[in-house]
This record gives sequence, C-alpha cells and structure tokens, in this order.
Amino acid sequence: MKYDKNSLKAEEFINNEEILETVRYAEEHKDDLKLIDEILKKAKKRKGLDHRDASVLLACSDESRINEIYDLAEQIKKDFYGNRIVLFAPLYLSNYCVNGCLYCPYHIKNKNIPRKKLTQEEVAKEVIALQDMGHKRLAIEAGEDPVNNPIEYILECIDTIYSIKHKNGAIRRVNVNIAATTVDDYKKLKDAGIGTYILFQETYNKTEYERLHPTGPKHDYAWHTEAMDRAMDGGIDDVGIGVLFGLDNYSYEFAGLLMHAEHLEAVHGVGPHTISVPRVKRADDIDPDDFDNSLSDEMFCKIAACIRIAVPYTGMIISTRETPEVREKIIRLGVSQISGGSRTSVGGYCEEERPHDTEQFDVSDNRTLDEVVNWLMRSGYIPSFCTACYREGRTGDRFMELCKSGQIQNCCHPNALMTLKEFLLDYASEDTVRLGDAVIEREIGNIPSSKVQDIVRERLTRIVEGDRDFRF
Ligand code: SAM
Repeated sequence: MKYDKNSLKAEEFINNEEILETVRYAEEHKDDLKLIDEILKKAKKRKGLDHRDASVLLACSDESRINEIYDLAEQIKKDFYGNRIVLFAPLYLSNYCVNGCLYCPYHIKNKNIPRKKLTQEEVAKEVIALQDMGHKRLAIEAGEDPVNNPIEYILECIDTIYSIKHKNGAIRRVNVNIAATTVDDYKKLKDAGIGTYILFQETYNKTEYERLHPTGPKHDYAWHTEAMDRAMDGGIDDVGIGVLFGLDNYSYEFAGLLMHAEHLEAVHGVGPHTISVPRVKRADDIDPDDFDNSLSDEMFCKIAACIRIAVPYTGMIISTRETPEVREKIIRLGVSQISGGSRTSVGGYCEEERPHDTEQFDVSDNRTLDEVVNWLMRSGYIPSFCTACYREGRTGDRFMELCKSGQIQNCCHPNALMTLKEFLLDYASEDTVRLGDAVIEREIGNIPSSKVQDIVRERLTRIVEGDRDFRF
C-alpha cells in the first residue's frame, strides 16, 4: 500500500507506513530547534501545517518552543474564532447496539445495561427539557442496530426534534453521531436538514481497530474510515471527525487525524468542519485502565494546541468527558464548541437526578448549562447559541471562505450576542443575566462595522420585546 491522500481507499489515505515514518521522523527531530523554528515560522502564516510538520511540533521537548506553540495556538484561536464558544448538548436516542466495541458500554455482550430506545413522545419530552435549559443545538447519538435503530427511526426523531416549539424554545441545529452508513442514508440525513455528520474514527491503527471492534458491522475498518467520503458524496458538506484518545498511541492517532483532514480537503475541496478530542472514560463494564494508552492532561492540551495550529479553519469540540479544570485550560488553546449540562443516558434529561443505568460514560463536568454559561463569561468568553451558518447555506467551503475572509467578526460575533441575549431573557439565573448584559454591552463595541453594531442594537431591543431568532 502506498500513501496517497487523493485515494479513496482507507489504507492509502490513512497509510500505516506513512504514519509510522511520520512518528519516527518526529521523534528523531524533537530536539532539532532549527527545524522546529522553521515549522513555527510556517505556522505563523496561519495557513496550517501538514501531518509531518505538526507531528514534529507535538513531539518537541524544548520548553520555550512548547510555550511558543501554546501562544500561537491561543493567538490563532483569537484571530479565527474570537472569544466565542458555541454550546450544544448530546441527546441519546437509543443504546441498542449490535457491535462489540471493547471500550463502549453499549457493546452487545453487556447484559447489565438496560436497553432503551426513546419513543417519539419521549423524544419530545427530552427536547422540551433541553429547550427549557436553553439549548438550541443538539448532537443526537445512537448505537448501531439496523432492527431497533434503522435510518427511518433516526429520521423520525430528527423531524420530531425540529417540530417542537416550547415557549420561546427551538432546536435550530441537529448534528448527528450515528454509525457509518450508505450514501443513500447520508442523502436522507441531508434532506432531513442535519447540521454536521459526526463519526469518530476511534483509532486510525487498523490492527488495533480490528482488535477493539471484534464483532459487528463496525469491525470493517475500510467501511468506517471511508464513511466521510460517502457522507460528502451524499451531499453532507459539514463532517466532524475525531479520535477516542487512550485507545492507541497518541502520536499515531494525531498523524492519522491530520491525514484524514488532508484527504478530505484534497478529494472534496473542504476539510472537516470539526475535530473532536474525546478520551476514554469509565462506564458500565468499562475500566479505562484496561487501555494502556491514557495520556496526561498536559499532553492532551498539547495535542489540542497542535491541532489548532495545523488546521486553523476547523472547529474543535470538547465534551463533558473532561473536568472543568481541563476544559478551562484546553478552551484557551483552540476549542470552539463545548457541550454543557449533558446527560449521556437514554432519557436522562427528563429525570430529576442524573440517571446512571444507561449512561454511555461518566460525565466529569456536572454543572448546569446556566453554570457553564456563567463560568464561560467569567473566564472572558462569549457563550454562543448561534446556529446561523448552515441555515444561511454557509456550509462546507462557503463556511471556510467566511472564516478565511475575516468577515466572521461581523457575522458570528453579532449572532453570538443576540443568541446570548435570548438565553439571558428566557433561561438564565439572576447573576448570569447581570454578567451577560455587561458582556453584550462590552462586546457590541468589538463588532468592526458600525452599521452592523446599529442593527444589533435595534435587534436586541426587539428581542427584549419578544422577537426571536435574528441572524446574520
Ligand atoms: N454508535 C456510533 C458509532 O458507532 O460511531 C456513535 C455513537 S457513540 C454514542 C459516540 C462515541 O462515544 C463513540 O464514537 C466513542 O468514541 C465514544 N465512546 C464510547 N465509549 C466511550 C467511553 N467509555 N468513554 C468515552 N467515550 C466513549
């Protein structure tokens, strides 16, 4: 097998020899300050880095250069994403699953976990609970089970989610995290109006992949790895990739992740919309210590910083798998989206207490959405509930163009402020309202166009009067 980023064959665009050679090269040059300085110079042009150069930065052991990497990641985040953080929540539809994934509590052999699938009435109740928290953007999650969770079921759930309008609430963007499927199914998801199609590779190492997925349709490495190509062929412009860190060696995964991004850009003209960086967590029947590739918080943050530098236009997502302390550190280095107030059990949002019986993994950030919003603002960020881009047709390369043109500050920034105002009026605690109104007042001044500033002021007044869902 020869490495070829333009190939449509998994083992050619994610090529084992190329990854091993990259990891070896990075290890050999980790103290090569001349080369590292050259790579940093290239990175400062903000056009990204290829997997080889980025892997050298990840391996770099010189403290002052590591600090430079962090500073640059922080600066790129500021320049491309400002101080906005987009919020979302996962919605678990069903934990029926026919796969045998060794790290996931939904694996078919787990007889402890009660199997549950939401009816449409239950989906509606969950959505009302999520709307009452203030959420506007969801990521739906389901195990793979052609009998219990066929594509028709997923499509019906999406319809139900979009149809619920409770008080001033609405779910305006549904992202979908379901198993690899056919081009036809991806077309159906596209027609149902989904935002991003998300699928984690789990591990890019084929041998490990096959060991960790011993049975079920997910065992097929090529089917899984080529899924994003099928999704894009089916018309889905925004795809989200990720690795489950802890399963295999992080340097291998890092190179694989970037090679996947390079492949999508080369073949479809647009890279991934988002990259997620989940780490394996404790769950029913799952002990993370069984996987011996766990990585320190420090290395985890370095990975995020190097991703930010390597693919400046790609959003980065961090979930409640991480503690508030790690989230605080890593957000600064390049994260653009986080989940908040999450429950990872099927039907969890309707329960008074967080239920654990059907949970997919332990949540490490247990704060409410209001608390997360409050904390973000105290840390200098603007929490955003914006969903405008894909509703305005700014997906795929059109979103990237917006990012590259710098117009994002005249568009995403005002949208963040207007959706934050909606949250303050409809769902926030007194303290969050006080803080939020001050943030909005301060941040209007950071909209470059004075004309846009005037429009935002007028729309904010209309939001107070009861209007909703303005967007640029
Ligand atoms: N079933 C779908 C699939 O096959 O891709 C995706 C849905 S699954 C609910 C979402 C993701 O959760 C998986 O892709 C995996 O990376 C992650 N996950 C599974 N077990 C986990 C664990 N013990 N700790 C952290 N994340 C886990």
